[in-house]
Amino acid sequence: MYKKIGQSFASAIFFEVAIVIILTVGILGYIWIDKEYETFNQQSEKLRMDYISNQKNIIKNEVNRTVEYIQYMKSKTEEILRKDIRSRTYEAYYTAMNIYNQNKGTRSEEEIKKLITDALRPIRFNDGRGYYFIDTLEGDVILYPILPESEGTNLIDLKDDNGNFVLREEIELVKKQNEGYITGHWIKPDSEDKQPYKKITFVKRFEPFNWYMGSGEYVDDVMEDIQAEILQRVSVIRFGYDNDMCVFINNYDGVVLADAVNTMSLGQNIIDQTDERGKKVIQEQIQIVQKDSDGGFLSQYCKMSGAGETYEKMTFVRGIPEWEWVVGSGVQMDKIEQVIASNRAQMQRKVQRDILNIILLLLGVLVLAFALTRYLTDKSRKNLDIFLSFLKNASRDYAEISIGKVHYSEFKDLAAAANAMIFERNVVEERIRKLNEELEGRIQVRTREIEELNANLEKKVEERTQELNQMLIIDGLTRIYNHKYMYERLEEEIIKASARDEKFCVIMFDLDHFKSVNDLYGHPCGDRVLVAVAETIRNSIRKEDVAGRYGGEEFIVLLPDTVMETGYVIAERIRKEIMALRFEGKELSITISGGIVEYESESAVELVRKADEKMYEAKQLGRNRVQK
Ligand code: GH3
Ligand code: MG
Ligand code: MG
Repeated sequence: MYKKIGQSFASAIFFEVAIVIILTVGILGYIWIDKEYETFNQQSEKLRMDYISNQKNIIKNEVNRTVEYIQYMKSKTEEILRKDIRSRTYEAYYTAMNIYNQNKGTRSEEEIKKLITDALRPIRFNDGRGYYFIDTLEGDVILYPILPESEGTNLIDLKDDNGNFVLREEIELVKKQNEGYITGHWIKPDSEDKQPYKKITFVKRFEPFNWYMGSGEYVDDVMEDIQAEILQRVSVIRFGYDNDMCVFINNYDGVVLADAVNTMSLGQNIIDQTDERGKKVIQEQIQIVQKDSDGGFLSQYCKMSGAGETYEKMTFVRGIPEWEWVVGSGVQMDKIEQVIASNRAQMQRKVQRDILNIILLLLGVLVLAFALTRYLTDKSRKNLDIFLSFLKNASRDYAEISIGKVHYSEFKDLAAAANAMIFERNVVEERIRKLNEELEGRIQVRTREIEELNANLEKKVEERTQELNQMLIIDGLTRIYNHKYMYERLEEEIIKASARDEKFCVIMFDLDHFKSVNDLYGHPCGDRVLVAVAETIRNSIRKEDVAGRYGGEEFIVLLPDTVMETGYVIAERIRKEIMALRFEGKELSITISGGIVEYESESAVELVRKADEKMYEAKQLGRNRVQK
């Protein structure tokens, strides 16, 4: 119904709504995706930072753990040493006690003493450093395997390199509490520095003889053992995702002491090693650990094996200053880039999915909007249909719009306005109709009046016409026919009589001595006499007879279908009637002379002349008579 010229209401609304939706969803989608990218970048950065900080933590923790382990082990050196020399001494004690117990009944004391010293003399431990000694409580040397010539001498006054009486302290301790530790400081005979080294000795009383026995150890020597043990342990520890990370230990000289990954470098001096950018990394590591006891990070750039690309490596180092060790661990930072790249690929897939979702959402919203606008425009269209049919019929119809059938306040307002218009029109048309009726009534009245007027006028015209016609044929004074009419009738009568072969008569009358009437009584009186005579003639004749004034005081009478005898009778009767006329207050008597002729095929003029002749004859004969 609306598919007409131009764009339809529905499609206009839909396209406008569609444009708004596309713009909205497009902008929102763009913001959404942009947000996702931003989030991803932030997350990537955070991931990188987290990874870096995590990796840094890992290596830092590993290094710290190792340092703690080293420090623990270092702190435990004396304890270990003490435990060791104690247990060694106990072993010697039980060995000696066993020999004594086995032999005390069967052998002599001297024999038993020899058995014991022989048994203990060759025993060495701790890489040959360890041995047993036996002294008496008086300071005599019983067993001293590393210096046998001192055996048998008294060393009660022996002082260590710090000047302490070591034997006296030992004897005092054993006497007092049977066993215990004694510390002394000695210059190592084979060492170059000639510095006194701390040596701890465990002593235990051997009760069967007046002996005490013991074993000592330089702390320094045990420390070296422990260092070796530490290096050995550290050298096999690997960790990390690919198990390719380790803790390395170098000394301040740049010699590699432990490296579980790069085992080839063990024992090498790498003090001048530089990274790809020329940084002397080992020297820098040493500087870091010397500057800060908690250690620190340093970054270096390494070359990928094979490919020419470089990658960043982060190293954490911490020092063991007493041992001049650098403990460290490094991590390759390029791995995080691989992780982020894979995350980025994942992210891109997600963004693609999001874009697809946005497009689907857009389509969905568009379909929804299309349906909605269709619904709304259909509804509006129904309303418009109502208005259209209203407008189409409005010119001839008075049907109002049912407001209940239209929706939306605008259409309801329109409907109300349209109905008001119809109402107004009804009122106006009703007024016009009434005015029309009134006008028609007035027109009818006026028409009737005009018709009446017309009728009157026509009547008057007819009357006047009749009057005029009468005036044409009637004599003005006497009210009988005039001369002209009488001749016409005469002509007609001649034709009729000729046709029917009938007879008719013509009488000509002339008043006698009328001149003297005028002279005696005046002309007005003469006129009255003429009127009375004409009336008398008219009253005296038959209906079909015709009387007229021929002129002056002369009258003519036509008697149709009448023969002479009858005509004469009529003429005589007229003469007598006139003679009998009397006039009020006057001694007046009127007589009349007449001539009658019967038609005998003459002309009208001839017939009148003949009647006139007869009338003249009557005059001649004495008047007051009719001559035939
Ligand atoms: P006679 O008997 O011979 O006919 O005599 P008379 O007097 O009638 O003579 P005449 O016929 O010659 O005269 C006619 C007279 O009639 C003349 C006139 O005075 C009179 N008369 C004619 N017409 C009229 C008229 O209309 N009115 C009046 N009052 N008199 C008329
Ligand atoms: Mg005359
Ligand atoms: Mg006369």
